[in-house]
Amino acid sequence: MKEKLMEIMDEIEIIDAHEHLPPERVRLEREVDVFILFSHYTKGDLLRAGMTEDQYKTLFNYEIPIEKRWKIFEPFWNKIRYTSYSRAVLISLKKFYGFDDITERNYIEISEKIKEFNKKGIYKKVLKDTCKIKFALTQCGTTKTESEILIPLMPLNKNGEMDTIENLTRSPYDENNKIKTIDDLIEEYKKYILKSKEEGAVGFKTMSLPFGFPERKKAKELFNNILKGKIKKIQPSIIPPSITGTNPIFDYIHDEIIKFIGEQGLVIAVHTGYWGDFRRLSPENFIPVLMRHPEVKFDIYHCGYPYVREAINLGKEFSNVYLNFAWTHIISQKFAIDAFDECLEMIPVNKIIAFGGDYSLPVEKVYGHLFMAKENIATVFVKKIEEGKLKFEDCVKIIKDIFFNNPYKLYNLSIKE
Ligand SMILES: [Zn+2]
Repeated sequence: MKEKLMEIMDEIEIIDAHEHLPPERVRLEREVDVFILFSHYTKGDLLRAGMTEDQYKTLFNYEIPIEKRWKIFEPFWNKIRYTSYSRAVLISLKKFYGFDDITERNYIEISEKIKEFNKKGIYKKVLKDTCKIKFALTQCGTTKTESEILIPLMPLNKNGEMDTIENLTRSPYDENNKIKTIDDLIEEYKKYILKSKEEGAVGFKTMSLPFGFPERKKAKELFNNILKGKIKKIQPSIIPPSITGTNPIFDYIHDEIIKFIGEQGLVIAVHTGYWGDFRRLSPENFIPVLMRHPEVKFDIYHCGYPYVREAINLGKEFSNVYLNFAWTHIISQKFAIDAFDECLEMIPVNKIIAFGGDYSLPVEKVYGHLFMAKENIATVFVKKIEEGKLKFEDCVKIIKDIFFNNPYKLYNLSIKE
């Protein structure tokens, strides 16, 4: 039954609901070898296994002979090879290059095949022809994705911590524009949002930081004091008591931008959980924002790992919340299976988005990640069918919704046809 479900998933078109894929040209301009498969998230696993930043950089220094770089890499590969990140590598390796493993004996041959594959059309081959991805929503810092498959999302905040004069006087729209007041900065954001929308962006991404309540008076005062040079940098004493807080200026501006994005009919994507000091990225932080903006649609990313139930409960409580499984299937398959199982019991099925690869340069790995997503979802469905909780036909319908219809509708992708 699992195979049958996997087959059905292989037949349908997919919306890849979150990537960082840059224009294909960026990938083609890169020199590549076997180590391209270890760029992006696997970097974290290599460093946690004990590799130093310098050693990691050396892997991509093509002036150093590959034999030497392999010697650095091999002991760490043996340590990280069982993680879900690495599984996506191995699945993609098999699919595109025909090898079961990366070893002392084959790394040079694999590198040659990767070089050969790194040609114009690689995105189409991987995304469209192999993964059946119709659209991939990508955040690569530009709306000019140079591809009909890649649909851009842009960052919501382009002014860093919004805590110094340098940060606060930089226009997100046009660097030549002068900013003298907090309202100037908000106006520049509105222009940036409208321009991005005109250029094809379908949403903006923020994070579930512990925002304070937005207070215009407080924000304006602080902004003016920074611009007059009375305050050099917003200090932690001004920040509300929380894990680290944001600051009153950011709290206010962030809220104003959210309102405006919602008025434009665009979506706010929200990173939750895992990354650095993940305590400040708990999904719970975002509850006040969700409550203040019931008319805005929020796409909650990554199931908040490790605050999984907090994230799922946002979907249970708030009509304006969607739950996006981007990245989850390669964080841990076990967690993604449990989360999906629980989501089906908790969340209306139109609110679940099954897949987002979350890769940048190593486009091949989208296939490995997608395979793991399908595997996870099939595992849950088999269990539910065997327990008599779902019928096979229900599962087929849900598959089409979570892999295609739900993200397609949320991001209004019919305008891209
Ligand atoms: Zn991402």
